[in-house]
Amino acid sequence: MQLQNPQLLRQQALIGNEWQDADNQSRFDVANPASGAVIGSVPNMGAAETRRAIASADAAWPAWRQRTAKERSVILRKWFDLVMANQEDLAQLMTAEQGKPLAEARGEVAYAASFIEWFAEEARRSYGDVVPSPANDRRIVVIKQAVGVTAAITPWNFPLAMITRKAAPALAAGCTMILKPAEQTPLSALALAYLAQQAGVPGGVLNVVTGDAVQIGGELTSSDVVRKLSFTGSTAVGRLLASQSANSLKKLSLELGGNAPFVVFDDADLDAAADGAMASKFRNTGQTCVCANRILVQASVYDAFAAKLTARVAALKVAAGTEDGATQGPLIDSDALHKVEEHVADALAKGAKLATGGARHALGGTFYEPTVLLNATPDMQLAQEETFGPVAGLFRFNTEEEAIALANATEFGLSAYFYSRDVARVWRVAEALEVGMVGINTGVISHAEAPFGGVKQSGLGREGGKYGIDEYLELKYLCMGGL
Ligand code: ADP
Repeated sequence: MQLQNPQLLRQQALIGNEWQDADNQSRFDVANPASGAVIGSVPNMGAAETRRAIASADAAWPAWRQRTAKERSVILRKWFDLVMANQEDLAQLMTAEQGKPLAEARGEVAYAASFIEWFAEEARRSYGDVVPSPANDRRIVVIKQAVGVTAAITPWNFPLAMITRKAAPALAAGCTMILKPAEQTPLSALALAYLAQQAGVPGGVLNVVTGDAVQIGGELTSSDVVRKLSFTGSTAVGRLLASQSANSLKKLSLELGGNAPFVVFDDADLDAAADGAMASKFRNTGQTCVCANRILVQASVYDAFAAKLTARVAALKVAAGTEDGATQGPLIDSDALHKVEEHVADALAKGAKLATGGARHALGGTFYEPTVLLNATPDMQLAQEETFGPVAGLFRFNTEEEAIALANATEFGLSAYFYSRDVARVWRVAEALEVGMVGINTGVISHAEAPFGGVKQSGLGREGGKYGIDEYLELKYLCMGGL
């Protein structure tokens, strides 16, 4: 990994304005999932360092919230510009620690930056309300104020974007933040924080603590100073963090697991549906929380759609993310590989038929062949939990009612997709799906301008859009009497 700006490879955590090592000097390695090679190491911090980061975020808060929205906006805009100016380096760093193809990494840098740009703009639009009063001698005014010190815990699958969609609205609103990035991908997080510092984000406003998830999470959730926690990750850890936050009654945003249905109706444009399924299922090697997890196809078009999808899947190029034309990188680690293998074995044992793939890839390591399984059924593991890998299971249905029932037959409710050209059906199905986001004739739905989030066991709150900044603002009602 050759960076044009070597300063971006930060191997210390950021507390206040200082890059720091762990108190006991311990560190952990960051490895490239494509090769296993160690590309750097970061401090293995714990409770004491986290308490210091909370204290520095608390100390920085009064001055940060006192800045005008315009001043914060200007700094965020600079941060956006710096991220884009360093797009190539950030992409190289991301591919090295996360494994995704470089083209996707470049795309993620731009996507991550778009949240900073968006919330730099939204910073100036945190309007309140003047409410018609029930009495002539009083007025009702509602203002919005920063929540205070906030914390973010983020996953490895989008090492930059999952951070910016929390940190950008927090900083725009006038909050300060302590971030704990995933242990697999801390280097992207630290590079991002370095660029924030360069952009003029004052010391203590954005702190990054790397290290022991349980200890850091324990401090962040139990602290009375931290008023809000935003987490993206698994439902199990989300539930744990919510319960740990109960005593301090924190505001919570939780972006948790999904089990997205992708429904192909008989009136769909099948080529467009196959393209959409590829984008939704195989992006990031199937490792996104909005990846199609169950592809439901109407019986009359099942064989035709399966043939189109299988041809596209067989044409994917599995390779290290740095290789030209790579479309499928390695899985993040051996646990991820084992889960994919288990899901495929379970499906085959329960009657699924392999159309392509179905085994570890010849490249070894955590590479897995892009796979299509026909005749998938709801009793299979891949129907009940996220596979989080490059495996597309095709289910069969007959009627629209059956499709909706199947789509909703999960405890999760993050995203859903469907393809249809019948306007009445589009509205019926979109309204009937129990999810936070619906892709209609598209397999890609994430944009900084739109609210991202789920219902049911997929979490609480929304990130992005005009709604995303509300997660970092409190309403205050001013009742002015005696007029
Ligand atoms: P994934 O399966 O995507 O790795 P996790 O929910 O395990 O999802 O991880 C998401 C983030 O949550 C990571 O930053 C991880 O370190 C963190 N994490 C995992 N367990 C805990 C915990 N007990 N307390 C706090 N953070 C945790």
